[in-house]
Amino acid sequence: MEQETSAIIDTDVIIVGAGPAGLFQVFELGLLGIKAHVVDSLAHPGGQCTELYPDKPIYDIPALPVCGAQELVDRLLKQIAPFEPAFHLGQEVAELQRREDGRFFVRTALGTQFHARTVVIAGGLGSFQPRRLVVPGADEFENRRVHYRVRSARDFHGQRLVILGGGDSALDWVLDLHGKASSIVHVHRRPEFKAAPASVARMQQLAATGSLTHVEGVAAALRHEDGQLLGITVKRADGTSVEFDADHVLAFFGLHPKLGPIADWHLELDRKAIKVDTAKFQTSIPGIYAVGDINTYPGKKKLILSGFHEAALAAFAIAEQLNPAKKVHLQYTTTSPIMHKRLGVPD
Ligand SMILES: Cc1cc2nc3c(=O)[nH]c(=O)nc-3n(C[C@H](O)[C@H](O)[C@H](O)COP(=O)(O)OP(=O)(O)OC[C@H]3O[C@@H](n4cnc5c(N)ncnc54)[C@H](O)[C@@H]3O)c2cc1C
Repeated sequence: MEQETSAIIDTDVIIVGAGPAGLFQVFELGLLGIKAHVVDSLAHPGGQCTELYPDKPIYDIPALPVCGAQELVDRLLKQIAPFEPAFHLGQEVAELQRREDGRFFVRTALGTQFHARTVVIAGGLGSFQPRRLVVPGADEFENRRVHYRVRSARDFHGQRLVILGGGDSALDWVLDLHGKASSIVHVHRRPEFKAAPASVARMQQLAATGSLTHVEGVAAALRHEDGQLLGITVKRADGTSVEFDADHVLAFFGLHPKLGPIADWHLELDRKAIKVDTAKFQTSIPGIYAVGDINTYPGKKKLILSGFHEAALAAFAIAEQLNPAKKVHLQYTTTSPIMHKRLGVPD
């Protein structure tokens, strides 16, 4: 339930999602003199571009014949810098409710609270969640003995660890905790790794000296007794099984997007996407807008450039909603002194 505390942040606009659409929303609002707070469940801005394909080239951004996905995010961050958005990263927006005074109460899973006059949902395919270990008992031990992220590395010092996964997160933690944990078993299902080759080489070197164990295989079962984790059974690539004692299991299988809490906000949905009109990109709840991959309307295409266009129109609608008495005129960034001022461009 909503709690009235002095820590509640008052804002004209809160943007849920820091993917390309959410970032460009900051820009379009900024041009109209409106500041925004941006929340994302990921620890960094960029959405799918950063999380799923940072090194891949994109060829359909207008006027940029080729642009790396992370490069696009970096360019967007530079473009919005003059508007000084307040980022709240690593926290999922868990709750969104209309208040009696017409504003929205927004709360993140970390407890950050907002009163926002308008909300823009730029949630893409949803909030990125860790892919979980699918063996009986994994849910029961989650966050106690089975972990999908490391909040405090010190918690694992002196512990017997089994670390699963072949990407950078898994390998980085194997190398970071080596020498600090009492033992490390690293398990990956195949000989190829997604992690940086130098990290893989270092892990293999340590395995060759016997200071950690590396197994090619998959987690098959957790061993436990009276609610205590005892260890893990790993099925090797050759079909045989091997048992390891463990205090903690750390699984890094990557992240995948899930619509998550957005589904509970009483918005009209169509196949997991939020219905909007195409003049304002407003949802079925006045004052809540949706841009980018999360929305749907006749002819919708889930492309970055669609999100950019939607953000521009949503910004005009928000400006009119925030200040109904004032007509919002279209101005060109080329020639508008007020936009130059907002952008920090000397006239
Ligand atoms: C491999 C691949 C290649 C692609 N190539 C192209 C291409 O060449 N051209 C092109 O135009 N498009 C391409 N796309 C699609 C493009 O990446 C998406 O259209 C774009 O990322 C959508 O941007 P968005 O900001 O709407 O959403 P996203 O990028 O998905 O970002 C949404 C953000 O919202 C956050 N979020 C969601 N729910 C919550 C919540 N409750 N609380 C807090 N945060 C939340 C998520 O964590 C995420 O960071 C590609 C996609 C993939 C996967």
